Amino acid sequence: MSISIDELKKIGLSVYDKVHPILGRKVAAETSKRGAGGDITMYIDTLAENTIIDIVKNYRLDLLLISEEVGEKYIGNQEKAIKNKRVLIVDPIDGSNNSVRGIPYCSVSIAYAEGTHMRDIVKSVIVNLNTKDVYWAEKGRGSFLNDERINISALGISDKPFFEINISPHNIKKNLELLDPIISKFHRIRILGSTALSLCQVASGSLEVFINLRKSNRLVDTAAGFLILKEAGGKFFSFEGEEIDLELGIDKRFSFIASNAQMEGFLRQNLITEKK
Ligand SMILES: [Mg+2]
Repeated sequence: MSISIDELKKIGLSVYDKVHPILGRKVAAETSKRGAGGDITMYIDTLAENTIIDIVKNYRLDLLLISEEVGEKYIGNQEKAIKNKRVLIVDPIDGSNNSVRGIPYCSVSIAYAEGTHMRDIVKSVIVNLNTKDVYWAEKGRGSFLNDERINISALGISDKPFFEINISPHNIKKNLELLDPIISKFHRIRILGSTALSLCQVASGSLEVFINLRKSNRLVDTAAGFLILKEAGGKFFSFEGEEIDLELGIDKRFSFIASNAQMEGFLRQNLITEKK
């Protein structure tokens, strides 16, 4: 049996119920170990991930869970999970640092795939853990914020577009050089701190562009937002100008450019590096 979009929403909202009361509180930041994704695991990350695992077990589904803290783990019958190629790609808290410091921008990101690659992601849910807003998408059916259909904005470079940049403090000079051809055209720049949620902002037209320069950006942060953005008409490509369609896995890391359709040409013209 395949997981339904309502079941995915229930998982996301259960995480909201569990973690919302401790956002910004000291207990949320208690550390234990390093998760499979490489970041320090805090209490809030473990709480969110365990909530997800408990519900998935209850649904009696056979699938491969790819999640930030546990890495890759089969739930239910492994043979059936492999045969049916069912994969759940999860970031239990995207924006953990925001969540423990009380900065109201964090989310839970859940993508469901039937296959081996990003193109096989068929359902996604991202819940804003501060506002309880639910972004979701089903392949071929469009993207939604709660009950309303969402779409990318139609703003171009001369329409005062909003950009978000995610940039590492390391190599900042080199990274800013890369942005040099376009940065003066930006009307407003943000660095918000939850990749999953920011892909939803581009999908719903709140942002025109989200450039994630961090090569350490993980698939678990991006998988659900990737489908929500695509189904809303958004563009998602690499700095080589190519479609990004990686094999699903905990170790997948990549930088990317996400935008509305209007901005795509401008970004490609100015940012794409010719392959040597
Ligand atoms: Mg996380």
